[in-house]
Amino acid sequence: MRIVLVGPPGAGKGTQAAYLARNLSIPHISTGDLFRANISQGTDLGKQARAYMDAGRLVPDEVTIGMARDRMAQPDAAGGFLLDGFPRNVGQAEALDEMLRSESLKLDAVLDLEVPEDEVVKRIAGRRICRNDSAHVFHVTYNPPKAEGVCDACGGELYQRDDDTEETVRTRLEVYHTQTEPIIDYYRAQGLVVTISALGKVTDVTERAMEALEKSDEG
Ligand code: ADP
Repeated sequence: MRIVLVGPPGAGKGTQAAYLARNLSIPHISTGDLFRANISQGTDLGKQARAYMDAGRLVPDEVTIGMARDRMAQPDAAGGFLLDGFPRNVGQAEALDEMLRSESLKLDAVLDLEVPEDEVVKRIAGRRICRNDSAHVFHVTYNPPKAEGVCDACGGELYQRDDDTEETVRTRLEVYHTQTEPIIDYYRAQGLVVTISALGKVTDVTERAMEALEKSDEG
């Protein structure tokens, strides 16, 4: 399956993507994670992306589309993928369509995670992520680790992302509304969008997501 995950920052895309990718045996491709890996390795690409990310703005398409294309061209993505954080504007959605069309491929579904705005701000401000694996995500009050600052899953150090401050979250939400939400209409016109609520327990949301994807596959 070829799936795109959309939703505001804090909707739980990364968390859900990790579970769904495992269930569906397809790689989880997160442009945010790819940028963060480039930043921590000190690559040129990381240097180009950093200021935009810290400000909560989109990294320019010239940089992002090339990076996403390279990742999707890896052998593990030949049979399908779950995209998380890409596309993030209509230009990127068009570029993705073009990439797929040139290989005679299509998307199967666009999974839209819905969550109210005040919830988003609460989720992000308390979010803590493991340095070893960005799928190991905690929250200081909603999902605290057993020992403060230590990942339950692997013992890694937990940290707060540079762009998870309240001020940056507001910018990221605005960017989401103005630039990313329009791709939902773009994909709705192709009949690809399935919307689910991202509220409730992580496992409940995963179940909802799997059901929605199965239905969209039949339909
Ligand atoms: P979240 O979904 O929680 O906002 P991500 O990890 O997906 O976080 O993205 C973090 C930041 O990385 C974004 O605010 C943006 O600066 C950059 N980024 C990620 N994906 C893209 C993309 N497709 N296009 C442009 N910038 C991106």
